[in-house]
Amino acid sequence: MAKQPLSLGRKAHRNKIEAGELYRRLFLQSNDAIILHELGGNIVEVNAKACALLCCSEAELIGKPLGALVRFETKIPSPEIHAALKRDGGVRFDATLLQASGKQIAIEISSSLIDAESGLVQGCIRDVSQRRRETERNELRTKISTLLEFLEPGHIEMGIDRACGLIAEYAGCERIHVYWRHTDAEGVDLVSNVNEWCAPGIVSIKSGMQKLPTSELPYWFKRLENFEDIHINDLNEIPAEAHSEHEFFKRMHVKSLTSIPMVHAGKLVGFIGLVFRYETKNWEDGDLNLLRNIAESIANHRMSNLVQSHLRRSQTRMREFEELLPDFVYEVDLEGNFTFVSDNAYKLSGYSRETLLTKTRADALIHPCDRERAHKNLARLMKGEYIGKNEYLLLRKDGSTLPIIAHSKPAYDGDKVIGLRGIFTDISKYKDAEDRLRSAHEALVKINQDLVQARQAAEDVSQSKSEFLAFIGHEIRTPLNAVLGILDILGEAKMPAEQVEYMRILRVSANSLMEILNDILDFSRAEAGKMELIKVRFEPAKVIEQSVRLIEAMATQKGLGISVDIDPRCSGTFVGDEGRVQQIMLNLVNNAVKYTNSGSIRVCLICEGRSDGNAQLRFEVADTGIGIAREKLDLIFDRFSQGGGKGSGEQPGSGLGLTISRQLAELMGGSIGVESELGQGSRFWVLLPMECMLADEPECKPEALKPEDASIPRIEARVLLVEDDEIIQHVASTILERIGCSVVIAGDGVAALEEMERSHYDLIFMDCQMPRLSGMEATVKIREIEGDGPRTPIIALTANALEGDKENCFAAGMDDYICKPVSAAELRQMARKWYTAAREAGA
Ligand code: ADP
Repeated sequence: MAKQPLSLGRKAHRNKIEAGELYRRLFLQSNDAIILHELGGNIVEVNAKACALLCCSEAELIGKPLGALVRFETKIPSPEIHAALKRDGGVRFDATLLQASGKQIAIEISSSLIDAESGLVQGCIRDVSQRRRETERNELRTKISTLLEFLEPGHIEMGIDRACGLIAEYAGCERIHVYWRHTDAEGVDLVSNVNEWCAPGIVSIKSGMQKLPTSELPYWFKRLENFEDIHINDLNEIPAEAHSEHEFFKRMHVKSLTSIPMVHAGKLVGFIGLVFRYETKNWEDGDLNLLRNIAESIANHRMSNLVQSHLRRSQTRMREFEELLPDFVYEVDLEGNFTFVSDNAYKLSGYSRETLLTKTRADALIHPCDRERAHKNLARLMKGEYIGKNEYLLLRKDGSTLPIIAHSKPAYDGDKVIGLRGIFTDISKYKDAEDRLRSAHEALVKINQDLVQARQAAEDVSQSKSEFLAFIGHEIRTPLNAVLGILDILGEAKMPAEQVEYMRILRVSANSLMEILNDILDFSRAEAGKMELIKVRFEPAKVIEQSVRLIEAMATQKGLGISVDIDPRCSGTFVGDEGRVQQIMLNLVNNAVKYTNSGSIRVCLICEGRSDGNAQLRFEVADTGIGIAREKLDLIFDRFSQGGGKGSGEQPGSGLGLTISRQLAELMGGSIGVESELGQGSRFWVLLPMECMLADEPECKPEALKPEDASIPRIEARVLLVEDDEIIQHVASTILERIGCSVVIAGDGVAALEEMERSHYDLIFMDCQMPRLSGMEATVKIREIEGDGPRTPIIALTANALEGDKENCFAAGMDDYICKPVSAAELRQMARKWYTAAREAGA
């Protein structure tokens, strides 16, 4: 049977009772704290939760005015709440409950007027602190990630500093620091405090916390490396193994601290530290999660920021280099299309960047004459080969060409070639320079050829001059030789006094002619650089004495006195070219006599310094003669220059004497000079460096022929005189016969060879220039015939006084040589020397 429906009255009554009971159950068992109170009046009833939340018993609360025991703060003023209750029957608002212990709890209050007549209000209080903290955390998380997300490039550190401030505000700490890990040049693992936030009144310590070796914080880094958080709630309870860190934090006046590792790409990149100086911090799990999230976000942002700024820097660098480069920088894909061109591509090609990138293939820029080569190179590059630099002609937009150098290399993506990168360098300037250089070089070559020709011509002229001089010398010497020879022979004959005087004049003139001839030949030798020195041991003092003796007669004739003064330090033996020293001295002494009319001449030899076997000898010739005008002083050593020796009554000479003296002095490493006063006299000096010999060193045989005054003993030698000139034949044979030689004459080389076949000779005097067979050729033949057998001494008689003749004579096989004109003494001395030598060799 179906239940009868309850009547409305009963039902309503029952409902009311049931609702009452239900409410009561709900009231008592509710998870929220519920307080029933009169509107603005006393508490009527509380449930258990309310007692717990307010930390009071039921008895303590009931009957008491609500405001006396329940203290909370809200932004909405009480009258407004009352008004809302009356008006709307309910109101909901947030507040903070202040517990008797001082603890504050975030609450949400929902009040409703449950009985308008009695003014009974039900206040439902809910602890929302957890929820509110979660909201705060979410807000902080969002704030920080937004802050870091939208940072301007390059502002990451500033953003992290601000994030630190936000975290500190949430956590209520005194200092937040962010340490980043890095390594130094030696690879030492370091951390530096880069970001920091300090509460007002807390001094920053960031600058002192740079580049700390992680090894100094071993406990910390052992844990951080394991990605573990470190919480030291009270520094006094820090683990014993963290003693290094303990010292460190004590100095920082820390009460408690927390460090959260920052990890990026699986690696510890740093940590965030929160420092509490006064409070012992107990973290909720939610807070720790929040800190870890923030640490991760900061690490990610900073690392990607670093990568980005690195990328930005290298992009900027590349762009700036590209702008600085005057070249056409490009990148081309596998199809040969440009994928990148630099700004200067336009300057070189005339095409805009857009045209190059969209409409022009790279090979279209290469002139058709180079295109095939370019294609081959391109193919090699695309295979990944490196082909270095190549020269091409670039075809510009306007049809003109530009010489370029292309330097390209394959472009890779991983190990796959994706095209090529390179630069075109404009080398037109170098090409121009090269052309200019080439023409300059050609011009130089031409100049050089001209110079060579000119030098050849000059050498030819000089050669002709030398040859001419040698020829003239020969031509003049031969007759002069004859004259002097005859004079020598005549000198030995008895003759009347009148003829003796003629003889004297003749001899003076002939000697003077010979001197001039010798001067000219010397000068020519010096000009040709063919003057050679013959070093011998000699006594300079003796050279002076001889020179003076030679002009003594001339000086006496002019009524001039001559004095000689030798420094005792110069009295020994020295090494030098005795003949050339004598030549200079003779010239100077001769000039002194020549250009002095009255008074005296003084010749000195002074030692100006002597060390390590070397000495500086100063030869001086002073006279009281006509002197030399100041303006002429510098000129008299120049060739053919004459000081205008008017008043001396003497004929000036060739003007070569002093020139040759200077050339000789300089050749010997010395110098020559003069001091003179017009009308007062002159003082010529020659300074010569010379090697000095120790007194007890044995005298060696001089290389050069020395004039020998002693009379030559007789030698009974068989002499073959080969000479074409009849006068010389006569003169020489007479001289030799007078000392006991038997002389046979041959007119030329052929006759000489015939004569040699016929009989034996002890000595041969051989003229060099002869018809049919010259002296040289004849000598070569004689030496051939002799073979290894005994060798007849052959002495050349040469009129060719130029250097080189001596060498030629020796080369032909001759043993010695005499320059024409030969004096009787010289010829006899030579005959004796070689006759003795041959006999000694034969003995
Ligand atoms: P020269 O053959 O003319 O003497 P030198 O070369 O020897 O040639 O001398 C050149 C010139 O220097 C002479 O012409 C003469 O004018 C001048 N000279 C040389 N020595 C003397 C001197 N002792 N006193 C004056 N004049 C001198």
